[in-house]
Amino acid sequence: MSRNLFLIMATSLLSMSSQAAPALPTITPDNPFYAASTLPYQLPPFDRIKDADYAPAFADGMRQQLTEMRAIADNSAKPTFDNTLVAMERSGRLLNRVSEVFFNLSGTNTNPVMQALERDLAPKLSAHRDAIQLDGKLYARIDKLYEQRTTLALDPQSLRLLERVHTDFVRAGAPLPLASQQKLRDMNSQLASLATTFSQNVLNEINASAITVDTRAELDGLSDNAIAAAALAAKVRGLDGKYVLALVNTTGQPPASSLTNRALRQRLYDASTIRGSRGGEFDNRAIVLQLASLRADRAALLGYPSHAAYVLQEETAKNPAAVNQLLARLAPPAVANARVEGDAIQKIIDAEKGGFKLAAADWTFYTEKVRKARFDFDETQLRPYFELESVLQNGVFFAANKLYGLTFKERKDLPVYDPSVRVFEVFDADGKPLALFLADMYARSSKRGGAWMNSYVEQSDLFGTRPVVANHLNIPQPPDGEPTLLTFDEVTTAFHEFGHALHGMMSNVRYPTFSGTSVPRDFVEFPSQVNEMWSVWPEVLANYAKHYQTGAPMPKALLDKVLATRTFNEGFRTTEYLKAALIDQQWHQLGAGNMPTDVLAFEAEALKKAGVDYAPVPPRYRSTYFSHVFAGGYSAGYYAYIWSEVLDADTVEWFKEHGGLTRKNGDWFRQTLLSRGGSVDAMQLFRDFRGRDAKIEPLLVRRGLTAP
Ligand SMILES: [Zn+2]
Repeated sequence: MSRNLFLIMATSLLSMSSQAAPALPTITPDNPFYAASTLPYQLPPFDRIKDADYAPAFADGMRQQLTEMRAIADNSAKPTFDNTLVAMERSGRLLNRVSEVFFNLSGTNTNPVMQALERDLAPKLSAHRDAIQLDGKLYARIDKLYEQRTTLALDPQSLRLLERVHTDFVRAGAPLPLASQQKLRDMNSQLASLATTFSQNVLNEINASAITVDTRAELDGLSDNAIAAAALAAKVRGLDGKYVLALVNTTGQPPASSLTNRALRQRLYDASTIRGSRGGEFDNRAIVLQLASLRADRAALLGYPSHAAYVLQEETAKNPAAVNQLLARLAPPAVANARVEGDAIQKIIDAEKGGFKLAAADWTFYTEKVRKARFDFDETQLRPYFELESVLQNGVFFAANKLYGLTFKERKDLPVYDPSVRVFEVFDADGKPLALFLADMYARSSKRGGAWMNSYVEQSDLFGTRPVVANHLNIPQPPDGEPTLLTFDEVTTAFHEFGHALHGMMSNVRYPTFSGTSVPRDFVEFPSQVNEMWSVWPEVLANYAKHYQTGAPMPKALLDKVLATRTFNEGFRTTEYLKAALIDQQWHQLGAGNMPTDVLAFEAEALKKAGVDYAPVPPRYRSTYFSHVFAGGYSAGYYAYIWSEVLDADTVEWFKEHGGLTRKNGDWFRQTLLSRGGSVDAMQLFRDFRGRDAKIEPLLVRRGLTAP
């Protein structure tokens, strides 16, 4: 019963006692989920998995786990840590196997059959989770052990497991009267369905909002590669001879930075920002309101003033006031910086006799001009030095070798779910096998936007399992025969996601509940952000940033410029992020019965109230396509990136103070923090590593927010 799994399942129809009812399909021994995979590291047998295998595996997986939980709850022996907590950890293996694969593939390689199953499963899995966490007899055993916890002679990790599970049951509503519990079950079921519909609408809307362009002339400014990709995208859609600009999930759309045609930039921006709020079958406005309202109602039932208060109690932030305080401290200087950047852009527009006022759709295009004027280079000069294979092998893997002694060997003998996915076996410094790493780098229409890490198999001593983890990016596939040249942002993202992968791969804990990245949301981004530092570390950069045709290293002058421009446009970046974080908090700090009726008006008002309504910098996500917080696990949690960055920036300082890229430093970070997963309080882990609490100053300096 891993915590991650519970996070994946948004949250009930069957109760444990009345499970006899529906006739669900039954799993058979030829089903690839029937038993643990026999492939190395229990890698899922992707080549054997068919869409029809999921439903019976889920149905039996839930049945099996309920039977296991029933046996624990009905055990006539007195509750002990082993016959209750450990037995619970051991439960649900089949459900775990199928869930890890299904929810990973539904994010990376979905299809209409999987989407339909996902909608069908959401309320069932929610019911399943409630059937366990709202089981009175099971809770009574856990509660009894919890009362006795100081006398049970438990080791620290076991004690923490007991406390963790007890807290989870309390937060799920286990101590509430039966009538309230029934209400919770209904709410959880609805919430699960709504979140699924939200995320499917986002994906469908992205695909439906692609921009069709009639002539090549309109695409002036794009590279030949990008134009070829747009022609190919049109062909795939049956629009031969035209060009299609596919959208990504953020408000900002990459082609806007180079398109010289202002009208087309505006079309792209309008298509992006209206997603989910333009009527039609994929409109998410009503769903946003229902989700926000139901979350507030559920929080009230559980005794919290708002959903944010409920969520934040288990984060390192602890409460909304702490989050508000950080956001309020950062927002004014960030917006002030953005305004200065905007003024510089307006000067260029005016110098060119543009005759218009800077609008959001123009920002990235003119930012590139400012960059060029100020530093005499633009992004396109960098890309030839950022070829994907070199970034991965000579950059990302190289840094992990220098820090942790890891080595990587590609395994072409193992099955994958898409031909572009690559599998690497990872060996520890002593040569022992450590993990499998899957690199799924390319965008496709069956993959959701953004970049993320996930795991297929979690490390735990209890099961003797080693990790199988994956990184997912959305790098546009180049035309056949062309190299994959990355932007600087994509390079940074590759290092970032690999930081999560390291957190998963280096996990060394007993209980699956604590494995790898099973830490608070506002802590989980910290190790990944730290790993970004190596992308510009001179020794690493010199090793991977080589011209893809000549092999020449990136010229020192260009390199210095890259480093010098790192705080360039930071006002924009910080502001667009903070706007999204504020929108998330404002929705989720609403009390029950206090809901607005107009999503876009509420959003605009929220930004105005926070003093960040500077129109040329739009929020990174608007509510109707903000999957992190309305479909994913980041509700009331989008602030987590900058919260974690306080720890990150302070850690970067530590590495610099201690000589940077060395095995000694890497091993210390691994030993004190990366390997511990959620087995110790997160802030304690930080103190173990750093020797003190984090200081905010390094973050302020990095983001250029020190000015009064
Ligand atoms: Zn991340």
